[in-house]
Amino acid sequence: MKRTLTFCVLLAGLGIGSVLVALSNHGTAQDPAAASKDAAANSTAPKAAPQGEQKMVRVQVFNREGKLVGPVDSPRVERTDDDWKLRLTAEQFAVLRSKGTERPFCGHLLDQKQAGVYTCAGCGLPLFTSDSKFHSGTGWPSFFQPIAPGNVAEKVDHSYGMERTEINCARCDGHLGHVFNDGPKPTGLRFCLNSASLVFTPSDKLSTLADAAAEAPAAEAKPAPARP
Ligand code: FE
Repeated sequence: MKRTLTFCVLLAGLGIGSVLVALSNHGTAQDPAAASKDAAANSTAPKAAPQGEQKMVRVQVFNREGKLVGPVDSPRVERTDDDWKLRLTAEQFAVLRSKGTERPFCGHLLDQKQAGVYTCAGCGLPLFTSDSKFHSGTGWPSFFQPIAPGNVAEKVDHSYGMERTEINCARCDGHLGHVFNDGPKPTGLRFCLNSASLVFTPSDKLSTLADAAAEAPAAEAKPAPARP
């Protein structure tokens, strides 16, 4: 199992042309060793916030009835790389914390067709639903919109001489993949994901995703800013 995942998790061993095609469709071609080395040398992983200084994010979460509620304020998840390594598999760490990319057609959620919700493998934040999943033919799980606009953060990615839009979990800053403007209606967007960054929960088990932030007083919740 581990050997299969290791084989599949990162783009490696491809010709230069194939790498560039893969990158234009998705993410980076870092191998685990290089990714870890880069992460050690240029770590941007958030460090633990000083005691009493809790950063918050405004997101939508599931309540105990399995209903999506919010936006509500939820504590930002910040851990050291050493802490993440204790909580994630090697494959999850390579993608979520080191911006690695699975090889196409290898991810375990590519052909997942059940109705349900995809949450962040790092912090459990709901990110996408099966309602927006579509067959892109790229070899990576693809969605045309996130479950809620504030749950997925975007940032410009200039790596590998390209300008792409990286997508990250809004709560733990875990790398998810990239978003492109060649998706289907109604958004025209293609959110290209790594299976290793996601956990799937079927629709009849959504109450198991209950988040403490769902119990926050409704009066404190304000609408999240609209996607530009
Ligand atoms: Fe997360």
